[in-house]
Amino acid sequence: MNQTNQSSEVRVRFAPSPTGPLHIGGVRTALYNYLFARKMGGKMLLRIEDTDQNRFVPGAEDYIIEALNWVGIQIDEGQSVGGPDAPYRQSERKGIYQKEAFRLVNEGKAYYAFDTPDELDAMRARLEAANAPAAQYNAITRMQMKNSLTLPPADVQARMDAGEPYVIRLKTPHKEEVRLNDLIRGWVNVHSSAIDDKVLLKSDGLPTYHLANVVDDHLMKITHVIRGEEWLPSAPLHVLLYRYLGWEDTMPQFAHLPLLLKPEGNGKLSKRDADLGNFPVFPLQWNDKETGNVARGFREDGYLPAALVNFLAFLGWNPGTEQELFSMDELIEAFSIEKIQKGGARFDIDKAKWFNHQYIRQVADSELAPRIQMDAQAAGFDCSLEKAAKIAALLKERVNFAGDIFPEARTIFYTPDTYDETIRATKWNDDAQRAVGAFRDALRAYEGDFVAENIKHTLSEAMQQAGIKQGKIMQAMRLALTGSGTGPDLMLTMEIIGRDETLVRLHQALERLN
Ligand code: GLU
Repeated sequence: MNQTNQSSEVRVRFAPSPTGPLHIGGVRTALYNYLFARKMGGKMLLRIEDTDQNRFVPGAEDYIIEALNWVGIQIDEGQSVGGPDAPYRQSERKGIYQKEAFRLVNEGKAYYAFDTPDELDAMRARLEAANAPAAQYNAITRMQMKNSLTLPPADVQARMDAGEPYVIRLKTPHKEEVRLNDLIRGWVNVHSSAIDDKVLLKSDGLPTYHLANVVDDHLMKITHVIRGEEWLPSAPLHVLLYRYLGWEDTMPQFAHLPLLLKPEGNGKLSKRDADLGNFPVFPLQWNDKETGNVARGFREDGYLPAALVNFLAFLGWNPGTEQELFSMDELIEAFSIEKIQKGGARFDIDKAKWFNHQYIRQVADSELAPRIQMDAQAAGFDCSLEKAAKIAALLKERVNFAGDIFPEARTIFYTPDTYDETIRATKWNDDAQRAVGAFRDALRAYEGDFVAENIKHTLSEAMQQAGIKQGKIMQAMRLALTGSGTGPDLMLTMEIIGRDETLVRLHQALERLN
């Protein structure tokens, strides 16, 4: 493999079809393109492949652009930012594809076909009835059909003059070997008999995916086509098209990315798997205007873009070291196509949560505070931003999502109404009782700042005076203050709930637990 044999700069493209919300696998494809482009000092293009008018969904293009923006993939040229090869929306480039399609016909590499849908169905039925290996329009069957290879030229002209609908089909060679050297998969050989006479230009004058994709990759000087494995079967046809169009010398290199697999590791990840496993497969929430359905998004589920990027980068690639946490810049630095795996990548949502946990704990407390304040207010509690930031400091190490912090902060907002029975039975003894009483009295007398460090000091002094080993009573102290045997830093918890509430809780525990 040779990534640097091209004299020109590396140019890659992400070429989604706006047929609905971008699937998370599409985001990974875009990410790998982006990492490669940046690594090689090249350009990343965004091209909108919207030539299939039947599948066009309004809003999908904006969604794609917003999703790429959100995860931090920057586009150098494309629909949203412009560039020398504009327009980047295929529906606006009709004439370009038509010109190439007619050229192919003139050069004898493609032909006009006038068959109606009924005639095509009849052909397929006939071939199936005869147990033909493949019921398709190809080098053999084309000669029984209605096209410019079988009709007299005058007839062809008359039909076209009369405005009869026609398509342009590729004249696939009968017996030829088509080879391509995929950067991930190695040599892929296909016999041309396995490739049918694909439609290149449809009767509505728009190109099919294959023609538009190849023409644009050529005109936009794409050097590497990095895309999902589902396009591997189309690649030999594309190679053939490059050959026929006379562009084989500058044909891009191909890299077909491994599939994303179900959480169990067998079969392709689907929307249904996501519903069953209760996780999103779209980067952003998608509101389907037609059905009114709302599909959840990683963003709305509380994933941080950096965490999602880190997670996606590892779905099919790894740096070959132990390091798992990578910023975008570090990913760019470490990325290489050679390290992309061939086999499918299991979509493990727990790993995504783990990444989010790693990133949430690095977010500044003040950044997490507004969300905590909002959740607290929604539950009917006053919570200053200062207090919310302290709660963030106390709890961010323990959660996967910012939205988990408030629920985790129950013991801050609620005076305990029950106490853990097991802890009570094992830890609430005479010493514990004495300790809680002594601490309460010491706090009552204490007049300094009510901050964790001072509270800690007051506690240890009180225990010393009472002759109680602090280590022995800490769980009981926690039980008294929170009702539970486990939880985050107790001194900081007291600082956050404040002096008055701390005293109320200690007092209440002495009454209820004894
Ligand atoms: N428009 C195709 C898609 O939706 C692009 C495939 C390619 O990258 O060649 O995935």
